[in-house]
Amino acid sequence: MDKPKTFFMRTYGCQMNELDSEIMIGQLLKRGLKRVYDEKEGDLLLFNTCSIRDLAERKVMGKIGQLGRGKKKQLIGITGCMAMAKKDTLFKKLPNVDFVIGTNNITDLDTVISNLLESGKQQIRTDDQFEENLDYLVASRDDKYKAHVSIIRGCDKFCTYCVVPYTRGQEVSRPPEDIEKEVRLLADQGYKEITLLGQNVNSYGKDKPDWKELFHDLLYRLDKVSGIERIRFMTSHPIDITRELMEAIRDLPSLCEFVHFPIQAGSSRILKKMHRIYTKEQYFEKVSLLKEIVPNVSLGTDIIVGFPTETEEEFEETLEVFRQVRYSVAFLYTYSPRKGTPAMRWKDDIPEEVKEDRLQRLIALHEEISSEERLSFLGNETEVLVERKNRDGQLKGRTRCWKKVIFPGDDSMIGTLQPVKLHSCNHQTLIGDLATATSRF
Ligand code: SF4
Repeated sequence: MDKPKTFFMRTYGCQMNELDSEIMIGQLLKRGLKRVYDEKEGDLLLFNTCSIRDLAERKVMGKIGQLGRGKKKQLIGITGCMAMAKKDTLFKKLPNVDFVIGTNNITDLDTVISNLLESGKQQIRTDDQFEENLDYLVASRDDKYKAHVSIIRGCDKFCTYCVVPYTRGQEVSRPPEDIEKEVRLLADQGYKEITLLGQNVNSYGKDKPDWKELFHDLLYRLDKVSGIERIRFMTSHPIDITRELMEAIRDLPSLCEFVHFPIQAGSSRILKKMHRIYTKEQYFEKVSLLKEIVPNVSLGTDIIVGFPTETEEEFEETLEVFRQVRYSVAFLYTYSPRKGTPAMRWKDDIPEEVKEDRLQRLIALHEEISSEERLSFLGNETEVLVERKNRDGQLKGRTRCWKKVIFPGDDSMIGTLQPVKLHSCNHQTLIGDLATATSRF
């Protein structure tokens, strides 16, 4: 087998996968390979996959199955959650694949490629336990001002519909000193915003009782890093959102007033069936406390409609929760069973057309609330981190609460925080002009 000189990487799924890809890209660049953006030009093709949705998984399988038929010999590697979920059958289903690396083994990419080249035989590394020696500092990021930083991997919650505890394993927190070192390095490189990543960031430190540093402690530590203007985090489990965290959002200048607070369903019976370990009432108590401590907070959510046995009345409870909390950001899905999860045991008994109807009603409500929210911002001044120019030559960025804003300005403002007075909006974006003072939303 010839040594690959170029590589092509495609990433599917969540921000955790994006960050894992950035780390693997860094490893390959360090090995001397050149990154290409056209699949046909890659000597090595890497697919960092996702297992959350069945349809997405089937599409990726179909796509990879078609590869490697040209004259040029291309090495094909599968990484990510699909590698974990289908490890036993992947080579059988996709004989053209040369290696498979699970989410917990991306450290081994270099060794796996070397072994493959030496032996000419298919390679697989898919351990259940995460290898803690992963070098995060090698990550190669496309974005110059915003960076993802992993703080905890895996999940111990075992929601009945979710594959993550089986594909990413148990929670493993990263030492706070290592995280701080990475964030300082990013600040030195000019990054202004970091998003702390984990399947459940609020669990940070609980797997390491000796450390005595929990999630809110980590936030106080990172807020002191000079140059980092904004800190976000993704994603949270409502049960682990503490008063200390809410107070940190109120008190720390860099911590953005946006919390992803995923309820998943509005009925306590369905929540119990999902093993979300909170009731609707307990969820509301936390939301009320958060809004009391941080009055200008914006909330995001994930919701699954059509979970097995969900009745029309229970779905209407979800609509009612949405109306009361008034989420700014929502990721809305219909339920689809995933192999290997406890929910697979239950009949997927809600007809697809009913699921789709519920989803469309929820999307309509979300659009109605978002549109009212956008109109309420008009006339305000806000702080925008400018990310780039759009196709019309307008500067584009986001507020602290994750709202998209466009306004006229010059290239020198890219990568800086600018005050913007909002005067109008379209379907998804707020529109404004440069202002002289800012408010925070
Ligand atoms: S908390 Fe999130 S990642 Fe963990 S099992 Fe539940 S849905 Fe999956």
